[in-house]
Amino acid sequence: MAIRNLRFEGDEILRKKSREVEVVDDRVREILDDMVETMHANNGVGLSAVQVGILKRLVTVDVWYDEEHTPLKLVNPVIVKESKETHECQEGCLSFPNKFAMVNRPEKVTVKALDENGKEITIKGEGLLAQCLCHELNHLDGILFVDLMEPGTLEYLDPNKE
Ligand SMILES: [Zn+2]
Repeated sequence: MAIRNLRFEGDEILRKKSREVEVVDDRVREILDDMVETMHANNGVGLSAVQVGILKRLVTVDVWYDEEHTPLKLVNPVIVKESKETHECQEGCLSFPNKFAMVNRPEKVTVKALDENGKEITIKGEGLLAQCLCHELNHLDGILFVDLMEPGTLEYLDPNKE
């Protein structure tokens, strides 16, 4: 496994649409493993492949920070259902270091995807998991949280200042 270089705000690749993965093979599994490592190394809860410069529909998510859960590795994820109720949440992105803004996300979503072995899986997410799934799936279509934020809520938190 290896930590990959992140792509940041202003990089045109973040605006591109990622392509469907046709075969879930060792190459795809290696990217997913690297994505989990990169996400953890940067204290992120989610990552999409485009953020490490790969235009494939791959997403990793880990909102749990515990031993019981293994990180989600999703291939070609699609939202198949989302609740009408939304919640307002503060959101950031590993491609926008130290920037945060308020975004409205569905309270609950259902996502279908393939796992790292190419098996179909369904994930039901609520709260932070739902937020994270929406955020990462947006990346696959070149949509960023700053496109969805409520006007005037963007904040820059200087990491060098306590
Ligand atoms: Zn992001």
